[in-house]
Amino acid sequence: MNKFVFMFNEGNGKKKELLGGKGANLAEMTRIGLPVPYGFTISTEACNAYYDADKSLPSKIELQVLKALQNLEDQTGKRLGDPSNPLLVSVRSGAVHSMPGMMDTVLNLGMNDETVEGMAELTNNARFAYDSYRRFIQMFSDVVLNIDGFYFEQLLGEIREEKGYQTDPEMSAEDWKEVIKGYKEIVKKYAKRAFPEEPKEQLFLSISAVFDSWNNQRAIVYRRLQKIPGHLGTAVNIQSMVFGNMGDDSGTGVAFTRNPSTGEAKLYGEYLINAQGEDVVAGIRTPQPIVTLQNEMPEVYQQFVETCNLLEKHYQDMQDIEFTVERGKLFILQTRTGKRTAEAAIRIAVELVGEQIINKKEAILRVDPEQLNQLLHSRIDDSFERNPIAKGLPASPGAATGQVVFDADEAEKLAKDDQKVILVRPETTPDDIHGIVAAKATVTSRGGMTSHAAVVARGMGKACICGCESLNIDVKARQFKVGDTVVKQGDIITIDGSTGEIILGEIPMIAPKLSNEFQLLLTWADEERRLGVRANADNPEDARKAFEFGAGGIGLCRTEHMFMDAHRIPIVQEMILADSYAEREEALSKLLPMQQEDFEGIFEVMQGHPVTIRLLDPPLHEFLPDKEELLVEVTKLQITDPTSKELKEKEDLLRKVRHLDESNPMLGHRGCRLGMSHPEIYVMQAKAIFYAIVKVMEKGIDVSPEIMIPLVGHVNELKEMRQLVMNVGLQVKEETGLDFNYLIGTMIEVPRAALTADQIAEEADFFSFGTNDLTQTTFGYSRDDAEGKFLQAYIENKTLPENPFATLDQEGVGKLVETGVKLGRGTKPGLKTGICGEHGGEQHSIQFCHEVGLDYVSCSPYRVPLARLAAAQASIKSELRQSVVKVRV
Ligand code: PEP
Ligand code: MG
Repeated sequence: MNKFVFMFNEGNGKKKELLGGKGANLAEMTRIGLPVPYGFTISTEACNAYYDADKSLPSKIELQVLKALQNLEDQTGKRLGDPSNPLLVSVRSGAVHSMPGMMDTVLNLGMNDETVEGMAELTNNARFAYDSYRRFIQMFSDVVLNIDGFYFEQLLGEIREEKGYQTDPEMSAEDWKEVIKGYKEIVKKYAKRAFPEEPKEQLFLSISAVFDSWNNQRAIVYRRLQKIPGHLGTAVNIQSMVFGNMGDDSGTGVAFTRNPSTGEAKLYGEYLINAQGEDVVAGIRTPQPIVTLQNEMPEVYQQFVETCNLLEKHYQDMQDIEFTVERGKLFILQTRTGKRTAEAAIRIAVELVGEQIINKKEAILRVDPEQLNQLLHSRIDDSFERNPIAKGLPASPGAATGQVVFDADEAEKLAKDDQKVILVRPETTPDDIHGIVAAKATVTSRGGMTSHAAVVARGMGKACICGCESLNIDVKARQFKVGDTVVKQGDIITIDGSTGEIILGEIPMIAPKLSNEFQLLLTWADEERRLGVRANADNPEDARKAFEFGAGGIGLCRTEHMFMDAHRIPIVQEMILADSYAEREEALSKLLPMQQEDFEGIFEVMQGHPVTIRLLDPPLHEFLPDKEELLVEVTKLQITDPTSKELKEKEDLLRKVRHLDESNPMLGHRGCRLGMSHPEIYVMQAKAIFYAIVKVMEKGIDVSPEIMIPLVGHVNELKEMRQLVMNVGLQVKEETGLDFNYLIGTMIEVPRAALTADQIAEEADFFSFGTNDLTQTTFGYSRDDAEGKFLQAYIENKTLPENPFATLDQEGVGKLVETGVKLGRGTKPGLKTGICGEHGGEQHSIQFCHEVGLDYVSCSPYRVPLARLAAAQASIKSELRQSVVKVRV
């Protein structure tokens, strides 16, 4: 018979898939002798069995739960429902991957009208017992009976006010009894049933509710964002309760073994005296920093510090630990790998190598490449004199400017219209996650550094300020007050998540600088990676940035971007609209020195590293005025000024624009097809490149140019364009008397090119996969507007696993890339191959590029560090896989 239920002392830390992260860690901590309250785990397999049985718990699992419960009762010497010595348990979710706050939890389970009295007697603290009971009813009703917490809060508020109290601790046992009576009436009214008093019924209902919460909306959104598969299921942990709210010798807290914002190797966390765990996480009371525990409970603090050191050494990583002190005794409730900012991730990984806890390869694998984005984005200019209106806790670094909104839905709506928003809330709950995702930053007036908003924002690399208590937020009136200042919805503020400051208006920002640890980690990455990393850059400025970030060359210089400059557009239009060859030549001759200057700038910056310049690619009408607008102007002039010269010119222009108009411009007259029908354009560009080479070489600077022909579908196109470029090369060599080397290659960006790559390779010195167009032409999805139309729905409904324009579709587009490489190298062994579509800066696609043997990836300058790290991870991972295969053999 399958085993679905495991006592903590039956598992270990390796069984994450079966026991979930939390369950496996609880088992591991039990195994290494830490003070973990007893309990058992119902496995993720049980969750799947529950769903397979149409959301009911199969009886064989039920029996195993009952057996485990009996064991737990024996271990603790307490019994569920026994008034003389009641066992109370927590019921918590625990998936394989941590999903903080996304699923449900029930605490204090086992309480009823009888056990509460037993608890009161046993603890000699009736106030505590009844408070726990009412907390249980409230939580159980929310999680299991789906009654809105608002009704309970409202009743509690009314009773508190009636009694003239400000805070909950002023409530007496008798007051809590009154609250409990009211709570039960709420349950009857809204759940249409009496509150279940039978503890086993409570237990099984809670287990089902936790399994159900695997598929609640916020968990689904979170999984999608974090790319966690939906079939994994969650485990459920049943653990005997310990109480942090038994008086001033009790407390509860959360701590990280190192600072999760900066990575500093110093214990970091917070706690509350006389409180239960959710008080810290929900951010209802603002907790104390962990160091002050040293004064309040010196022995407990000492034991806690030792436990933290032990856990960090054991797991070889920074830990996020939940603890409770019950009447002076320390219990560890949970440990997991702590979420951290990119800055902290890097510093911790590098310092762990220094401390000889992990090796360099492990350090490289520890940092999520995508997280590096956080470090590569703006912060407030230091020279700016700040006048903050408020200061909260610096919960997640980075700075952001935007208009204030007070509601997650509103934040999402405005962000969809490309508006920058800052979400301001009294506190956030997991239901606000879509707002946090949409906003540039989040601010809360309550809650600590480990509150929900802080944890979620840090994970996403978004700026966040928590516990900014001076903000008096009125969500209904859509405004907040700080002193005399009133900030209304729509007003612009800037926040600095690294200092916790809130400033009115927009503030100058500066580009980020990379820390020494960051540089060091990337140097280690460079030692490991096989893939080259280049950048897509169209001007000397971007090329410089890319070079600074460690790009080994330019993989794509889109020459059309050089045409987009406001001063150049009229000349480009002149060239396009020319009636005669001579007219076109004249316009081209004006463009030539401009292009040449840009190329010289890029060559100089790149100092002999390869620079791939692509000849003109987009359809020409992209440079012309909009047809519809022109039509309106012509119509107006025909009425107001039918004989004017302006009308004649506009009509002329409209005729040409119409002539160039295409039904499917992306499949139309673009790429090398332009060069084929207007060779003079490519001739001008080739000349500009060759003159630039000569000029830069004359300055004594090395140049490695690679000229790239776009959108080739048939070898003959490349053959003709190659000849054309080579003729220009010969001419310039003769004219200048200087010899120079260059390569001519092609983009592989339509399926036919990939499928006939053996022929195309005859004419190519290199291939660069243009996976933006290759994705467009393979799927037949327009890259310009599919995302705004059906593609989003495809991704949400899981018709497609990912957005193929962001993450390379390995099964389809990837197969073409693989085929192209194989066929190309069949003709020319060692043919240089790279990728310059957006996928070149996406970690999973980079892994694929490594696996199919590309020579390099090319991506936007700001993604270069990410690509260096991802390329190193790809190497290490494939090395690890090979060693596993060898061991198997
Ligand atoms: C591509 O198609 O992948 C590519 C890099 O070219 P562009 O995006 O300029 O079409
Ligand atoms: Mg393209």
